[in-house]
Amino acid sequence: MSDVTREMRNARKHSGMDSQGMLPAQRCTKCGKPMNADGNHPAELYAGTFTGLCYDCQSDPAYTVKTFETGAKLVSHPPHCPAWRRDREMFIAFDDCPECKGRGYKMNQRGFGSGGPYPEYCRLCSDRHLAALSGLNPESNLVTE
Ligand SMILES: [Zn+2]
Ligand SMILES: [Zn+2]
Repeated sequence: MSDVTREMRNARKHSGMDSQGMLPAQRCTKCGKPMNADGNHPAELYAGTFTGLCYDCQSDPAYTVKTFETGAKLVSHPPHCPAWRRDREMFIAFDDCPECKGRGYKMNQRGFGSGGPYPEYCRLCSDRHLAALSGLNPESNLVTE
């Protein structure tokens, strides 16, 4: 057995992954439902696509994770392209932002030849959040001249 093979076997053993790259049975970290219980959602337990969330929780509509003292919100969005990446995407947003309308991101219309459109954080919201933060904490050096 080569060193590489041995290392891969060890890595698998430690994460609990089986030879197909599947993780042991566990529950969704959000709703507590057993993952891939019906056997039709192998991605829920596949190590390469594992997010700790079941399909339902992964695709939940956008919701506010928390509100900052600046008035900005941390918004969790379903993944824009789950076939590529299953992680939910988090953005900082102000409800009244004229640019992103409170979503915290704008789609960058990148061509499909170079990977396709993707969400890009809203600069207006993040700049406003940082400016408000440094106003709340005058000692911080977030904004320098
Ligand atoms: Zn769930
Ligand atoms: Zn915005």
